[in-house]
Amino acid sequence: MISQETFKVVVLGGGESGVGAALLAQAKGFDVFLSDKGALSEDYRDILTANNIPFEEGQHSESRILAADEVIKSPGIPDKVPLIKKLYEQGTSVISEIEFAARYTKAKKIAITGSNGKTTTTLLIYHLLKSAGINVGLAGNIGESFAKQVINDTFDWFVLELSSFQLDNMYQFKADVGVLLNITPDHLDRYEYTFQKYVDSKFRLLQNMQPTDDFIYFSENEAIAAELNKKQFNVNHLPISFVKKESNGGFFKDGLLHLIRHPRTFDIRADELPIKGPHNAINAMAATLAAMAVGLTDEQIRNGLLTFQNAAHRLEPVAKINDIQFINDSKATNVDSVYYALNSFDTPIIWIAGGLDKGNDYTQIEDLVRRKVKALICLGKDNSKLLSFFTPIVPVIIETQDVNKAVSHAVSLGIPDEIVLLSPACASFDLFKNYEDRGNQFKAAVLNFVP
Ligand code: ADP
Repeated sequence: MISQETFKVVVLGGGESGVGAALLAQAKGFDVFLSDKGALSEDYRDILTANNIPFEEGQHSESRILAADEVIKSPGIPDKVPLIKKLYEQGTSVISEIEFAARYTKAKKIAITGSNGKTTTTLLIYHLLKSAGINVGLAGNIGESFAKQVINDTFDWFVLELSSFQLDNMYQFKADVGVLLNITPDHLDRYEYTFQKYVDSKFRLLQNMQPTDDFIYFSENEAIAAELNKKQFNVNHLPISFVKKESNGGFFKDGLLHLIRHPRTFDIRADELPIKGPHNAINAMAATLAAMAVGLTDEQIRNGLLTFQNAAHRLEPVAKINDIQFINDSKATNVDSVYYALNSFDTPIIWIAGGLDKGNDYTQIEDLVRRKVKALICLGKDNSKLLSFFTPIVPVIIETQDVNKAVSHAVSLGIPDEIVLLSPACASFDLFKNYEDRGNQFKAAVLNFVP
């Protein structure tokens, strides 16, 4: 038998999840080594040093890594990297931090995935449980690493936001409640440009789930529906629908969210909720079903839903100028999320979009834009794709690379009760550090606007 001290764990990637995994591995008595090809941030370097965890940065010492008994890989490292390929070829177990951490917790787990809406839904479920007094932790793609939080394993429940990259290296992990919001093309560069591979990755959420575990999903998402037609999953199905009321699940009609988790039901009107739009109705229904699975009372659920504040940059109301409402949706970095954003408003929209194009196909939003957008302000270095697609569709198009000018153009184009929506459909790196920076600069430009 191998003793823990001689079982060699190598952690690849020294961000929040990697450093957390290294701390957990050390706490469990393994021989740990962390390796990052880039530079570590000072904070993480200090934590590793203070805990006597050996590490390297700016390189990967191949022989030491290949000698590992198990490798915990950061979700940011693609499988096609030669070092990872070698590990797979020699049969080394390569797992994600979530898989590793799950071995060391007694807590029940609610896992949320999807192409869009993960963070909103994860935060909402966490808020519902926390405000109901449940002893609950929040982890995954958000905040403190799951691994670090299970070192002392004090929580009864965890709410975990999972990306497809984390799911790819999960094998034994079992969710007690699984939420699958939607699957639309994204990150295809990591899946050999094969959409089905990305779908398969998302469906790993269901692996190991049991008949008594709840599977909550949006049944009108094409990819989800197609997959469920092909394969049977022996779990408690809780579909969410806009068209069909099932005996179990969520149904949204005429402004009412109606939830059934046998034998209980729960209703709330969409206009009472602080998060708006049909996509948020899906997120709220998913979160409510999860809260019902945990056993929250109607009153706890209602209170939690009414007091939720979403994270910034997601259809975030900023301020009104001349009675024109400015909305920051900087997190909308793909066409699908813009589709939902445009669908969230009934008044004419001045749409600010653009940035680094990730291979966008705007056909999906062509009709919506034609009906709702009165002007498009392109905020990007290269706007050629937006211009060529929307010039025949939108009456007014303006280009700028300055967020302050984008706001002043919007003010001069708008009339009271209209909406100015920053929902870029693109990545931000051409003009900004990241989507947060873009959203913050936009908010500052709105708040500091001088006519
Ligand atoms: P993620 O964590 O999956 O990126 P977020 O909650 O941060 O998701 O939301 C990202 C963007 O997706 C936002 O701009 C939001 O408007 C949009 N969005 C949120 N929920 C959904 C949903 N259920 N379906 C489609 N788009 C959504």
